Amino acid sequence: MLTRSPFERFSWHSDIFDCQSTDIDRFYLQLEEEVQRLGLSARTLGKAGSHPVTLYQSPAQKAQAPNLLISSGFHGEEAAGPWGMLHFLSGIDASLFERVNLSLLPLVNPTGFSRGHRFNLQGQNPNRGYTLEGGRPASNDDTSDEGKLLLEHARLLQAASRDGILTCHEDVLEERTYVYSFEPSQLPGQFSLRLRDALGHYFPLAMEGEIDGLAVKDGVIFNHFDTSFESFLVRSGARFGMCSETPGKQVFDQRVLANSAVMAEFLAVLAPEVD
Ligand SMILES: [Zn+2]
Repeated sequence: MLTRSPFERFSWHSDIFDCQSTDIDRFYLQLEEEVQRLGLSARTLGKAGSHPVTLYQSPAQKAQAPNLLISSGFHGEEAAGPWGMLHFLSGIDASLFERVNLSLLPLVNPTGFSRGHRFNLQGQNPNRGYTLEGGRPASNDDTSDEGKLLLEHARLLQAASRDGILTCHEDVLEERTYVYSFEPSQLPGQFSLRLRDALGHYFPLAMEGEIDGLAVKDGVIFNHFDTSFESFLVRSGARFGMCSETPGKQVFDQRVLANSAVMAEFLAVLAPEVD
């Protein structure tokens, strides 16, 4: 069982961004700059506390390009995901959108993020309670307010993740990195291994054994289905799925860089550049 407290507060200083990891005003300010620079469209799905939960999408979606979704910030203390997305965005330019229909959910749980704790202000877990009943999106007793917002827009998110979903988490108990990955195969393929290796460039891989009661082999927990957002989208038809876990016991900026790198690799694998 998990020993983490959902309300234990975590905050780290980032030299890259010159602020604390919980500085939500700074986060939104820099996000807005990147959104403007890249010409992303913004669609507010609803509110979490006083903050909007917004889906950003690349402009002029192309029928022949893959639809890829990257999400982060489900758990408030896993701050290197959202900051890693900012770092990733700062390194791309709009020409990328010639070959991918990119959708982004940068910060799903803003009330947890600004306090540096795992759950939302109401004490709900924003990454549980995403289910399908007879093929239709449905909530259950575990669904958070943020989860209800996402489920209300399930069709939009299912379309946005048709060719792949990457969701970036962290594990504050770990010094090593690992991933949950989903592929339509019996064993992890290039998708799982390349994204794992993008993280493995920064941190040692988790030891063979169990994490949260699940078997981890070579840093990969493979095709494990639960009621998480990423499982839900894979069940809904997303061809590839990945939940990355950077180690919260490592230096914050290294975790930011690792999250940025796994996002770049996700695109390199599923929307490769053609020469
Ligand atoms: Zn998490």
